[in-house]
Amino acid sequence: MKQAMPRLVHRTLAAALVAGAFAGTVSAEEKVLNLYSARHYQTDEALYANFTKQTGIKINRIEGKEEELLERIKNEGANSPADVLLTVDASRLAKAHEQGLFAPVKSKLLESRIPAHLRTDDWFSFSTRARVIVYNKAAVKAEDVQTYDALADAKLKGKVCTRSGSHPYNLSLMASIISHQGADKAEAWARGVVANFARAPKGGDTDQIKAVAAGECGVAISNSYYVARLMRSEKDADKKVMDSVGIVWPNQKTTGTHINVSGGGMLKNAPHKEAAVKFLEYLASDDAQRYFADGNNEWPVVSSVKVDNPALTKLGPFKADALPVGNLQMYATKAQVIFDKAGYR
Ligand code: FE
Repeated sequence: MKQAMPRLVHRTLAAALVAGAFAGTVSAEEKVLNLYSARHYQTDEALYANFTKQTGIKINRIEGKEEELLERIKNEGANSPADVLLTVDASRLAKAHEQGLFAPVKSKLLESRIPAHLRTDDWFSFSTRARVIVYNKAAVKAEDVQTYDALADAKLKGKVCTRSGSHPYNLSLMASIISHQGADKAEAWARGVVANFARAPKGGDTDQIKAVAAGECGVAISNSYYVARLMRSEKDADKKVMDSVGIVWPNQKTTGTHINVSGGGMLKNAPHKEAAVKFLEYLASDDAQRYFADGNNEWPVVSSVKVDNPALTKLGPFKADALPVGNLQMYATKAQVIFDKAGYR
């Protein structure tokens, strides 16, 4: 992905020169889209190829880590070639929003396809994932881990594992708790979870699931797609892991399970604004929704689009938190402050 960066410049330049020579600069603007993407799923190739086939708009893609891409867009300033930024997690999209990188997009199509709580004025969600609780069936009772609040209960002392409190997935979960319960209760929750840690936070969500299966942790939090990925794995070791753990949809009797998103928006200095809006609208189309969500074992945001994913089907239906992603955005910074205060590292 590092190599892709200089390539973008060349490709864009080449495309502009060719189009400029043969068809004038106006159509050059129409036929190219510069996409900065922090998504890294193999199925995305087909997703982009399909867009080019439908519209004739060629996609120049730069892939990188979110922080690198944001830094890059800021440094490029008014001259940035970036038209669209795609990334995962509301707290990261919030960062781009707060830095003023996105442009507001008005699209009847996006408004009609994407539910209101999954979009803001300047960025849109295209798939959802849930933050679930994973527990060791031999060490922990399912009834003791039915809510996020339960993870702070002294009953689970020495049993809780999570990835870092600085990670966007946990920041967004924290933002949802602040939004539902207020900052004071959210901080008390964070302190309770820290007091219950089996070990200092380390690794990703898959590492937590494996540590739960191994008995090093009794219970952990994970994004649903990591669970689905392990459920679909053919490896014996992964099958063993999934045999040892149980999965809970948290907060089913109250606010519903916390949902996060993968999404994106058009950038303020986008040179190809029309193509950018077309691309965002394309991502909300039936075909694209299936690629976009299913490629990473997620759910489409367009409710009429059904994916046939055996792992997600097996996990069953659940009540999802309907909190607007704008609220996650609003409390993203506060979430980090509270985690820091609580010593949740
Ligand atoms: Fe992830």
